[in-house]
Amino acid sequence: MQKLAPYSANCEHSKGRQYAEDSPSYRSEYQRDRDRIVHSTAFRRLEYKTQVFVNHEGDLFRTRLTHSIEVAQIARSIARELGLNEDLTEAISLAHDLGHTPFGHSGQDALNACMKDYGGFEHNLQSLRVVDVLEQRYAEFTGINLTFETREGILKHCAVKKARELGDVGQRFIEGKQAGLEAQLANLADSIAYNNHDVDDGLRGGLITVDQLRETKLFSKHCETVRKMYPQLDGRRLINETVRRMINHLVIDLIENSTSRLHDSGVRNIDEVRNYHEPLLVHSDEVAKESLELKQFLRHNLYQHYRVLRMSKKAERVISKMFHAFMNDYRILPTQYHDMSAEMASHSESSLARVVADYIAGMTDRFAINEYRRLFEPGELT
Ligand code: MG
Repeated sequence: MQKLAPYSANCEHSKGRQYAEDSPSYRSEYQRDRDRIVHSTAFRRLEYKTQVFVNHEGDLFRTRLTHSIEVAQIARSIARELGLNEDLTEAISLAHDLGHTPFGHSGQDALNACMKDYGGFEHNLQSLRVVDVLEQRYAEFTGINLTFETREGILKHCAVKKARELGDVGQRFIEGKQAGLEAQLANLADSIAYNNHDVDDGLRGGLITVDQLRETKLFSKHCETVRKMYPQLDGRRLINETVRRMINHLVIDLIENSTSRLHDSGVRNIDEVRNYHEPLLVHSDEVAKESLELKQFLRHNLYQHYRVLRMSKKAERVISKMFHAFMNDYRILPTQYHDMSAEMASHSESSLARVVADYIAGMTDRFAINEYRRLFEPGELT
């Protein structure tokens, strides 16, 4: 049994689930959350959704599923060392991307633009919507009825206006409070994971080079260490040896810096963590700077590479054309959406838009491409 620090989340003191349920046998409440997430439909769809590269571009790039598993791995290692709740950390990490649209960030931006007059679209809010409303697995409630702490962690940021509509999990944004440490950790592990795997995938895809990456301090210092130790090494092994050192460096810095901050803050329980004036899990200033430099490098050289931009523009067109086609006539949605769409359409255009956005956001990359073909290519079967 893991020994928990006093400021960690303890399921004995959980704020509970929206619908009361009996406690599980032989597993904790947060293990049950994790298990429900793993068994959800949205979780399986992560296999065919991507962040930077579109799913069909290659079999070796990260998908949102492997990304989420990497986030959970990094976050759990740190949680164990800091005495935080590993099961809760894992649950939040595995669920954090459930609401993502197909085609990564360009998909989300396109859907947000389509939803501009109907309340917008934001993937964090959508992840919460997936677990609270969209998963249909239980007789007695919609969604998968997760604990407050897991839901709080999924909603990592939120505008105050939206927060007012969300009830309990929105409250901290209104009051300017922090999330629990497990939520803070999953968020940091997310950026450790994607910065490093985007370096790896970017090199693999030939969009960036080792020489370019050596402009960044984080990459160059670890690459130099490896070159000194193994002067003959090149290719994938050089990259992998470098990237694993980068991840390790970030993880160790986060553990050490957070340990001393937790100590210095004097927080004694999760409520004091929530009331503290700033997040308690953070990198040292130096590593935060190195990480930011790498992020900026990736933004400039990878996310704005012409091949990534071409795919992003294509994704925008696919998503917005589908959205407008469904809004023009909801009867071309699959049959199971008709009753709901008719009801929504009679309420207001924005409730219909929300049904359409849910349908599009749930699509995997390849489903979206096929659905687009079925809608717009005359020769395609419907
Ligand atoms: Mg992520």
